[in-house]
Amino acid sequence: MTIFNFSAGPAVLPRPVLEQAQAELIDWHGSGMSVMEMSHRGPEFQSIIDEALADLRELMNIPSNYQILFLQGGAQGQFSAVPLNLIGATGKADYVNTGHWSTLAMKEAARFGQVNEVCSSADSRFDHIPAFSEWKLSKDASYVHYTPNETVGGLEFQWVPEVGDVPLVADMSSNILSREIDVSKFGLIYAGAQKNIGPSGLTLVIVRDDLIGKSLPITPVTYDYKKYADAGSMYNTPSTYGIYLAGLVFKWLKAQGGVAAMEAINVEKSNLLYHYLNDCGGFYYSPIAEADRSRMNVVFRLKDEALDAAFLKESKAAGLLQLKGHKIAGGMRASIYNAMPVEGVQALLSFMKDFAQRNG
Ligand code: PMP
Repeated sequence: MTIFNFSAGPAVLPRPVLEQAQAELIDWHGSGMSVMEMSHRGPEFQSIIDEALADLRELMNIPSNYQILFLQGGAQGQFSAVPLNLIGATGKADYVNTGHWSTLAMKEAARFGQVNEVCSSADSRFDHIPAFSEWKLSKDASYVHYTPNETVGGLEFQWVPEVGDVPLVADMSSNILSREIDVSKFGLIYAGAQKNIGPSGLTLVIVRDDLIGKSLPITPVTYDYKKYADAGSMYNTPSTYGIYLAGLVFKWLKAQGGVAAMEAINVEKSNLLYHYLNDCGGFYYSPIAEADRSRMNVVFRLKDEALDAAFLKESKAAGLLQLKGHKIAGGMRASIYNAMPVEGVQALLSFMKDFAQRNG
């Protein structure tokens, strides 16, 4: 039986990446060392990080006035690091609230300055993204923060907010590298690695040069972008194995045809599920407004919640793993990141149809 893993993160990695890592585990390229055993200051690891940086810059078309930093502390570390490094400009920041993760980011930022909630769809259980015309942006924010893909709720922006000269900051943890974006529209992009990049323990930050070096005096040194930019991400020991695996994922992405090719597959995969949810006659449904549905995290519910347990038990037995929704959202969630093949989505669809037929 072929197993398909729909975990929201840490999530499935491309099979060829795992196989290559396995083959190189004990002796990396004849060095006699595992990547886990190498000094981060040695030429072997330097070549690994240099290649990962170059490949990511190519994949995302990152302009030369942006630094790529490999950090630690996860995306939630960046909930703190972003205000610590950026809010000093005016002491104020704008936060767009579209769900669980943007709420947490906003709460953390409020510890370091004045935070303005630009808009919120909390009143309708975050079932849509508030229209840009309703946003109340402030004139003097140091930055505007939003979450392009809400992993728990299953919402995704299909557009990039136009916020003028104010730096736009995006938590792209769960949709980075899944669709083409114009990096120059952003002041800063961050992402925990454990969905579309590699294993957990690695955090990616892409930051424009002019935003570096303005941290609040209280900023812990390990959260100061300047220290890491100046040291090529190696102010302290980085997540070396995480960077190595991310590098293998970047090579795999290039071999698939890059981000544009991935995006086409991601559209196809998510359409398969959303079309069925629309057409299944109500046995299953999506709680999210049609225009704002995530391509990465397909959240759905069974009309009869009493069937949830059977759905999860039987799907697991059919080799379809980790479909349970986040505990605060309930229902089901199929996370279909880059590494999930179309066949996995087709297998899920067949199971859903069969389950509905037997229980409808
Ligand atoms: N932001 C988003 C959009 C996420 O999906 C997650 C993790 N699922 C986080 C932040 C938190 O990430 P971490 O556990 O790396 O702190």
